[in-house]
Order: sequence, then structure tokens, then C-alpha cells
Amino acid sequence: MLLIRCPYCEEERPELEFRNAGEAHVARSTDMAAISDDDFEKFFFIRSNPKGIIFERWRHIHGCARFFNAARDTVTDKFLVTYKAGEPKPDLEGLVSNEPAAYANRPPDQLNVKKPRRAPAKKKGEA
Ligand SMILES: [Zn+2]
Repeated sequence: MLLIRCPYCEEERPELEFRNAGEAHVARSTDMAAISDDDFEKFFFIRSNPKGIIFERWRHIHGCARFFNAARDTVTDKFLVTYKAGEPKPDLEGLVSNEPAAYANRPPDQLNVKKPRRAPAKKKGEA
């Protein structure tokens, strides 16, 4: 089971207690009515969706219910660090062992990607 550290509760809890709330550090215009339609489209719909490190908002929905930010590797699903909302992006130097671009040519079995579990095969005669 994936464990996520809540920076407010200061403990690791099962992923079932959390909810993803999209990309973090998306800057909102101070005068939303004045921006162009193209700029509004970029703000509202366009997200980075990288293969590698992403900064996301998460909510400890079945715990303290507070929002926080996390740096997560989208390839391995590993959380590198979590930090309180409003804090700046942390320096990931030393936390990242591989550059995101390094994943591009690796076979899937070297990416530590979880394989889906299959239900055990039923024996003959079982319903
Ligand atoms: Zn919490």
C-alpha cells in the first residue's frame, strides 16, 4: 500500500485517506476579467502533465482535511516530499536520483511500475 506523509499530521497514512487536487503552484491572475481568452484557457485547462517529477496539491480528506503540496514522480508513483500549502517549492536536489528524461528509454521492468493484480484463477467447478 502506498503511504503518504501528511505535513500537518506529521505521519505517514494510507493513500486511501488522501485525494489528489490537481497541479500545485498554478498562478492565478490578480485581474481575471482583464486577461485574454487564450490566457484564461491556459490558466484553466492547460497543465504540465510531465513524465517524471510533478508538484501536486493533495488533501488529507479522511484525516485533518487540510490541503498540502507534494512532489511526486509520475513514473514510479513515489512521493519525494510533502510540504504545507503556501510554502515554496522545495529544492529536490538530493531527493531525485534520476532526471525525468532518463526514463525515456528504459524498459518498463526497470521503472519500478506497479503491475495490476489479477484475481486468482478459478478452479473447475467453482461458480
Ligand atoms: Zn493530515
